[in-house]
Amino acid sequence: MVQLTEIRSVRPDQGVWSFTSQQQTLRRLDKAFGAFFRRVKARETPGYPRFRAAARFDSVDFRHGDGIKFHRDKKQLYVMGVGHVQIRLHRALPENAALGQVSVKREGSGRRTRWFVVIPVEVQPVPLPMTGAITGIDMGVASFLTTSEGVHVPNPRHLKVAAARLAAAQQDLARKKRGSNRRRNTVSRVATLHGTVRRQRLDHAHKTALKLVQDHDVICHEALQIPNMTKRAKPVPDPARPGAFLPNGQAAKTGLNKAILDAGWGVFLSVLTAKAENAGRDVISVNPANTSRTCPDCGHCAKGNRPSQAVFTCRQCSFTGNADTVGAINVLRAGTALRQTAHAA
Ligand SMILES: [Zn+2]
Repeated sequence: MVQLTEIRSVRPDQGVWSFTSQQQTLRRLDKAFGAFFRRVKARETPGYPRFRAAARFDSVDFRHGDGIKFHRDKKQLYVMGVGHVQIRLHRALPENAALGQVSVKREGSGRRTRWFVVIPVEVQPVPLPMTGAITGIDMGVASFLTTSEGVHVPNPRHLKVAAARLAAAQQDLARKKRGSNRRRNTVSRVATLHGTVRRQRLDHAHKTALKLVQDHDVICHEALQIPNMTKRAKPVPDPARPGAFLPNGQAAKTGLNKAILDAGWGVFLSVLTAKAENAGRDVISVNPANTSRTCPDCGHCAKGNRPSQAVFTCRQCSFTGNADTVGAINVLRAGTALRQTAHAA
């Protein structure tokens, strides 16, 4: 970091860039190495920080007022070394918001290149009026989520379509020769699709979370075990050739589809938590063990209570219901119990 001033004094070409933005980039490098040494120490797979060529370097951080300035009235952004650029605001910036870090991000390449500016601002919490309602949610595959009142929020169809396209593009990519023009083109197509999926997912998460937060004081959900859920499709060994594997394109495809939907829950939960905090609502995370196989009527817990993905039928009292709704009811109960213990303590 100290060397940066020196480098700038002997390399005039470096002087055209903002000092703080170079500083931020060095901080990122420092962080990458810090994390690397921490992993080595913890005896985890270290993963040496990789060199990022210009083509892989997709974002630069600035401090507002140093090399970058946002002109609210003209909806223009001044970037040092670039000039004034017109920007399209996706969300209104609150009046008098103090601007700190500003990130400029690039997505895709060639004629598909899209540029984004990310401006985080601090907002004052706006508590919503109490509703007296508390809900549990079950996050599933058939529906994106189901509430304990039996409301199903379907998986967004457009996200499935984009996910299928992405899977196809990624398979396409695997067939292209390294360094070829066609490969470069496919890389840019994959990046664009990733961007689309990410934005659609975020949009869906915002809408779904907003509705839940408006209607309930307390929202209980299952704790996610992300590393488990995004496991890759298993390779298929080739019986004819020991040590070799059969192509499992289909498995890779479903694996990716599932991973994309799984990632949706992670994004959704972080959006939900932020929105709830801002609205003065409670979000309770419960242990997901047995929530799908316990009878809400008599408490009998068995794997056999769930004869299929969609149906719950209690082996003991023959209570029958939608499996996702039953899961959500159990999540609600576990959350309520946690809350009572917390209040009693
Ligand atoms: Zn029962």
